[in-house]
Amino acid sequence: MEHTNRPHVPPTLLPRKEGIRLKRSLLIKPMMNEYYPTVTHGDGIYLFDNTGKKYIDGCSGAVTASIGHTNPEIIAAMYEQANKVSFVYRSQFTSEPAEELANKLNSLLNAKEDYWSFFVNSGSEAVETAMKIAIQHWQEKGNYRKNKILSRWISYHGITIGALSLSGHVKRRERFVHILEDYPVVSPVYCYRCPFNQKYPDCQLSCANDLETAIERAGADQIAAFIAEPIVGAAGGAITPPDGYYQKIREICDRHHILFIADEVMTGLGRTGKMFGLDHWGVRADIMALGKGVSAGYTPIAAALASEKVMEPILNGSNSIMSGHTLSANPQSTATALAVINFIEKSKLVENVQENGEYLLQKLQALAANSQIIGDVRGKGLMIGIEFVSDVKTKQPFSSGVQITKKIVDQARDKGLLVYPASAGKEGAQGDAVIISPPFIITKQEIDDLVAVLKETIEAVQNELV
Ligand code: PLP
Repeated sequence: MEHTNRPHVPPTLLPRKEGIRLKRSLLIKPMMNEYYPTVTHGDGIYLFDNTGKKYIDGCSGAVTASIGHTNPEIIAAMYEQANKVSFVYRSQFTSEPAEELANKLNSLLNAKEDYWSFFVNSGSEAVETAMKIAIQHWQEKGNYRKNKILSRWISYHGITIGALSLSGHVKRRERFVHILEDYPVVSPVYCYRCPFNQKYPDCQLSCANDLETAIERAGADQIAAFIAEPIVGAAGGAITPPDGYYQKIREICDRHHILFIADEVMTGLGRTGKMFGLDHWGVRADIMALGKGVSAGYTPIAAALASEKVMEPILNGSNSIMSGHTLSANPQSTATALAVINFIEKSKLVENVQENGEYLLQKLQALAANSQIIGDVRGKGLMIGIEFVSDVKTKQPFSSGVQITKKIVDQARDKGLLVYPASAGKEGAQGDAVIISPPFIITKQEIDDLVAVLKETIEAVQNELV
């Protein structure tokens, strides 16, 4: 018999295996549902549901709410802009906040050359735009063959077809493989489970050299760009490359005349304790995708940024980027993003991320030392991944049937802590992981509270397994 609350969708759309029913709001209209709590409001690092329950937002939602919830300065800036004008079409007007935001992002990059911004609404669109800019760059130079984009396994670049094609995330790809373009071909940088069974630094960065192998196989004359997340997020749980990796990637790209796209959707705007993830290695990309932290979730906005070098043939050629959306660069979103970035700068939040990120990392490493199921703790700033294993000595992953990530996420939520599931699943990441990525405003006392609930959760799950 049909359950009255069940949406009228083909059964395959319901992730029954995991026991979750989709909310109708995800499909058509809002409706109370039996599983997800209904949020009523947020305050700083906390969220509250309609039963009065309080949650520590230990992952900033999807690593997004970087300055916390209901910040009065941002609300005031949104109100002020709404009183002026919320929407103009980008082919009819630019606006002061859009221009100011582009200038701000350029100045934050502090690069030798200027970067141009193209505003969109989501990280996936930012990646799509970055792909198009890369291909258009070569076309406008008269090179129509350079139109492939290389990417790595164990990666996530977005859910739209172009961005998903580049994503080495088996679980998110599998239903759509038949309509995806090509596939990732470069090995991941994953020292905990080195794909080459080597150890850093003796490995001499075989994973970076694998880009060169992939280029030689495909032919540099056919490749427009290589894309990578500075620190891998959703597909693996803050998988962090060793020093020297990105310097080598940059050098290989330059030598083969291939553009380097940094997908900084998760790492950008302070999350890792530097303004951009690649800043840790002193490397600049030719094109960047930004999202999430650009507005810290206060409004949908994201951006593709392209360097002067990339833009030059386009500006001297068609003088237009062949992309765009109705809501691109609208004044409401750009004013909101500007207020968020100004708040981050004024409150010196990136410094806070650096200092409190170290504190969080140490606490989580201490937790791992006494745990039978934590295999690895990694990351930078307030983007820390915890990988779970069934045997810490052999690094044996849990079998997928155990659903360890889901157990941790669900039980933490029940205890009032939100953590972000991160795993490519299947032969992707092999492992199970979560990301701990609280808002930048978190204090040491609040970190202690977060870690206490996480410890309780991990111990409860561990006890369940024996
Ligand atoms: N790129 C990275 C690195 C991401 O982490 C994500 C989302 O998690 C995306 C792209 C896609 O962004 P969105 O979900 O805003 O489309």
